[in-house]
Amino acid sequence: MSEAVIIVAAGRGTRAGGERPKQWQDLAGRPVLAHTVAAFRGAERLLVVLHPEDMDAGLALFGGSVTLVAGGASRTESVRNALEVLAGSGVETVLIHDGARPLVPADLIDRVRAALIEGPAAAPALAVSDALWRGDAGLVAGVQDRAGLYRAQTPQGFHFEPILAAYRAHPGEAADDVEIARAAGLPVTIVAGAEDNLKITWPEDFDRAAAILRARKGAQMDVRLGNGYDVHAFCEGDHVVLCGVKVPHSKGLLGHSDADVGMHALTDAIYGALAEGDIGRHFPPSDPQWKGAASWIFLDHAVKLAASKGYRLANCDITLICERPKIGPHALDMAAELARIMGCDPTRVSVKATTSERLGFTGREEGIAAIATATLIGG
Ligand code: MG
Repeated sequence: MSEAVIIVAAGRGTRAGGERPKQWQDLAGRPVLAHTVAAFRGAERLLVVLHPEDMDAGLALFGGSVTLVAGGASRTESVRNALEVLAGSGVETVLIHDGARPLVPADLIDRVRAALIEGPAAAPALAVSDALWRGDAGLVAGVQDRAGLYRAQTPQGFHFEPILAAYRAHPGEAADDVEIARAAGLPVTIVAGAEDNLKITWPEDFDRAAAILRARKGAQMDVRLGNGYDVHAFCEGDHVVLCGVKVPHSKGLLGHSDADVGMHALTDAIYGALAEGDIGRHFPPSDPQWKGAASWIFLDHAVKLAASKGYRLANCDITLICERPKIGPHALDMAAELARIMGCDPTRVSVKATTSERLGFTGREEGIAAIATATLIGG
C-alpha cells in the first residue's frame, strides 16, 4: 500500500528544559528530530510538520529529503495541515508520529503497518502495569482500577481517506489522532508498544534516550578488517605516483592505470573488509574504459560502497616497500591526500615505508610493493 509518514514537530514544549524546543535539542550528537526522521528512513513519503519559525532549520537539517509543512497553533491543526497536503495524492495509508519519540523501534512500526492490512486504524500502546491513584493536595485520594487501561504511543496509523474525512469532520482539538478517528466511528486496533518508544518530555528523558541509543549502538557495532597487497614494476620515467602524491624519481611505475601501488593496496583492503573482492572485480582490466584511469576513482568507489552498506573507515595503515624513492618526506602529504579522497580525518590514515634490506625484487629496485589494512565500523 502507498504510505505517507507525518512527523509532528511543531510544538514549543518547554517541560524538557533548555532554550530550544525539545525536538531541536541535542541527543547523542544530533537533534532529537533527526533521530525521529531516521527511524522512518526508506518511507515513500515523509512529511515533517514544523513551527513556521523552524522551517529554515528544517531545510538545513533535512534538505530536500522530506516535505516540510508549516504547523498550526495546536497539534490537531498541525496534523490537519499535513493531511491536506496529502489530499488527492493517492496515498493509501498514513502513519502519524510524534517528533519527540526518536527511538521508535522498526518492529513497532511494522506492527502498526501490519494491522492496517486488516483494519482502518491501528496504534501502539502499553498496558498500564503500575497501580493508579487519584491524588489531591499531595494525598492519595483514591485508587483507580488499571484493568483495560493503556499508555498510548505513536505512530498511529490510518487508512488515508477515512482519517482525512475524520479530521475534516472534527472541528475542535483532540488529545491525539486516535481520538479523532474514534469520533468518526473508526475502530482502532491496539498493537504492542515499546518502552523504548519514550516521548521526550522531561530533562531526564534525554539521559534515558541517550542510554538506550548507546546500548543499541553497542549491540549493533560491526567491526570489519581487510587487507590489500599490490606490486608494480619500475619502467622508464621520471616520477612515480604513490598514495595520490607525485614523487620525482629516476624511474616510473608500469601499470594499467597510474600504477599507484599504495592506493591500490588500500582500495583492496577496503573491498576486502566488505568481502567485495578487489579492484579487478569492480574495474576489470579488460574493460578499456579503465585504461589509464586515475586510482582515486577506485578508492572513491570503495569508500562509497562501504558507506552504502553502512560502514565508515575507522582507520587504515599503508606500508610502502621500496629502497627508493624515499617516502618519509612525503608520508604526511600522502596521508592527507588519501584522507581527502576518502572524506575522513587525516589522523585516521597512516602511511609509512620500509625497505627489504636489498633482498628480493624490491631490494633489487625492480618495483614497489605495498600492503594495507583498513578497519571499517558499521552499525
Ligand atoms: Mg595495482
